[in-house]
Amino acid sequence: MFDIQHYYKAESIAQAVEMLAAHPGSRLVAGGTDVLVKLRHFDDKFTRLVDIHALPELKKIAAQDGKLFLGSGLTFAETMACEAVTQYIPVLAEACATVAGPQIRNMGTIGGNIANGAVSADTAAALLVLEPMLVIQGREGVRRAAMEGFHTGPGQVALAADEVLLGFEFDLAGLKGLGAAYYKYAMRSAMDIATIGCAAGVKMEGGRIADLRLAFTVAAPTPLRCRRAEAASLNQPLNDAAVAKIIAALEEDVQPRTSWRATREFRMRIIKTLAGRMIAAAAEGAKRGN
Ligand SMILES: Cc1cc2nc3c(=O)[nH]c(=O)nc-3n(C[C@H](O)[C@H](O)[C@H](O)COP(=O)(O)OP(=O)(O)OC[C@H]3O[C@@H](n4cnc5c(N)ncnc54)[C@H](O)[C@@H]3O)c2cc1C
Repeated sequence: MFDIQHYYKAESIAQAVEMLAAHPGSRLVAGGTDVLVKLRHFDDKFTRLVDIHALPELKKIAAQDGKLFLGSGLTFAETMACEAVTQYIPVLAEACATVAGPQIRNMGTIGGNIANGAVSADTAAALLVLEPMLVIQGREGVRRAAMEGFHTGPGQVALAADEVLLGFEFDLAGLKGLGAAYYKYAMRSAMDIATIGCAAGVKMEGGRIADLRLAFTVAAPTPLRCRRAEAASLNQPLNDAAVAKIIAALEEDVQPRTSWRATREFRMRIIKTLAGRMIAAAAEGAKRGN
């Protein structure tokens, strides 16, 4: 059924990196929920696999010195059940809860969701708002990369062929006071990918917006932060006029396209509606303390 030409089981990250380097053209498989679909469609880029499924190093959860580290191998279900996530960054749990159905959430990993480069990845908008550093291991050692800019094109990310995404490091001190919210607009409420996904993060100071972070999936060729809209929000009171100004600026940030799922015009309408709603939901979260 699957045209697998080579299969290597890595016992450690170091071994996975060596295997990727020694066998050019090999791909990592974590939960396999994307890779096995590719294999089934005879995508010949996925016939040589390095298996990192359930490696304990990739399941690490560590909160210390004001940072929270989440291993890339945590499944959506494990991420949703993680106390540190629900306490400090509940928007990530919200985003994970919108993925597919229970079976996929039990297998698919948060690392695979970002490393596959999908523009519709449900964790992408939430992570863009939370601004973790991506911790990556290659043959030269460990490097860190910002979440913004990691997606370089449709299905493309800034990972070298021998690199493994170890996980996400969140700066909890920097996130203090940030309320955040995510909404996935899809044609069905389960087992469907986003027509548009929107996450917002808001920090208020003295009744004015001190920090707005607005991110979308499926609104451009890659998941994106809306820098023009964010700039338009600075020091504004949170009222209808300010939201209208933010939404007007947003049109310059996004480039939705027409596909069989939705037209460009319909997507633009959803983008504007969700922006207003998510900013309001994030501001409510900031009041509550999340
Ligand atoms: C029926 C179905 C429904 C789905 N619904 C949704 C949905 O609603 N929302 C959504 O966002 N996604 C959805 N997906 C897509 C998929 O489940 C997710 O993208 C998932 O997060 C992929 O994770 P994985 O561990 O299964 O990745 P895998 O399939 O193992 O790998 C995916 C890609 O990432 C690379 N990779 C994996 N881990 C790493 C790592 N640690 N370092 C470097 N590269 C790595 C692999 O080489 C591969 O290219 C769905 C898939 C299916 C089959």
